[in-house]
Amino acid sequence: MDFLSRRARAIVPYVAGEQPGDRRYVKLNTNENPYPPSPRALAAYQNYDFSSLKLYPPLAMGELRAAIAAAEGVEPENIFCGNGSDEVLALCFPAFFDEGGAGAAFADVTYSFYPVFCSFFGVPFTEVPLEEDFTQDLSKLTAAKAQGLLVANPNAPTGIGIPLAEIERFVAANAGRVVILDEAYMPFFGQSAAPLTKKYENLLVVKTFSKGYSLAGMRCGYAVGSRALLAGLERCRDSFNSYPVDRVCQAVCAAAVADAAYYADTTARVVSERARLTRALEGLGFTVLPSCANFLFAKHAARGGQEIYAALRARGVLVRHFQKPRIAAYNRITVGTPAENDALLAALRDFLGA
Ligand code: PMP
Repeated sequence: MDFLSRRARAIVPYVAGEQPGDRRYVKLNTNENPYPPSPRALAAYQNYDFSSLKLYPPLAMGELRAAIAAAEGVEPENIFCGNGSDEVLALCFPAFFDEGGAGAAFADVTYSFYPVFCSFFGVPFTEVPLEEDFTQDLSKLTAAKAQGLLVANPNAPTGIGIPLAEIERFVAANAGRVVILDEAYMPFFGQSAAPLTKKYENLLVVKTFSKGYSLAGMRCGYAVGSRALLAGLERCRDSFNSYPVDRVCQAVCAAAVADAAYYADTTARVVSERARLTRALEGLGFTVLPSCANFLFAKHAARGGQEIYAALRARGVLVRHFQKPRIAAYNRITVGTPAENDALLAALRDFLGA
């Protein structure tokens, strides 16, 4: 008996980076932050009044939204929170795209969850090829026939960032349709378009606590946007799960976002290691795309992407390899602590005999 619906049978789910339990790995495959969450976030967790867990979480998420709004320089009513930015992105599809309508457009090499969301929600999509060097000519996206457009900035898995001025021209050129900017990796680039949401009603900026705030295990993401757009997300959320962000998560994330100094410090460490790791990989014969994120996208002059992935795995280092057109020669390597990066480099030297 096949109990599954046609939809469940037809979808090809997103495959997250592996989390194997067979041994301890140096884990550089899912773009987590190598540093722990802010001490203030840990204190909020440890001091949490757990007896309050008998109650559902505050629907308005007032404290959390106020803390995020203060950090983003917008009003709390312009913040929408969800269970990870993946959930916020997922809700964008029923909120802004018609089933079987003009569809969504995004790059051919970008976050591979976008086509999965489209398939799940019955939204047609167009993949607009990036340039040969993996940069994105946004005018080509503007030329796409679509109900709305998605851009990851910095992009994943390439790490390439688009300057804010170019983003603003793009948002202005598409004033008649929704533009969703996925800024999951923006902490490591520092050119967020979130303030532009005050000027452009069609712009939704989606961000996360997973990367910059070292809270991937907490599952919280948010969108910054006009009331016109957030109303759509709220309608869809309230048709699916009214309480996507639990009480503890709300308290911890509010504390994390208020600790700007800690965020600045850990971000600077990652950015500085990113530069060192890039140079070291280049020294070992890799071509590394210019990264504005907390990971590097690198291909070797002599050895294949799959081969390097397997050699590293055998040596206890996990990186991410995508067996996909255009990018099969590359591996995506999360920037770790200096010690983790040294372990990666040692494993590579061992494999390459360098
Ligand atoms: N956007 C991009 C581009 C990502 O790489 C990720 C992480 N896989 C996400 C969004 C989702 O992150 P989260 O659900 O942890 O907020």
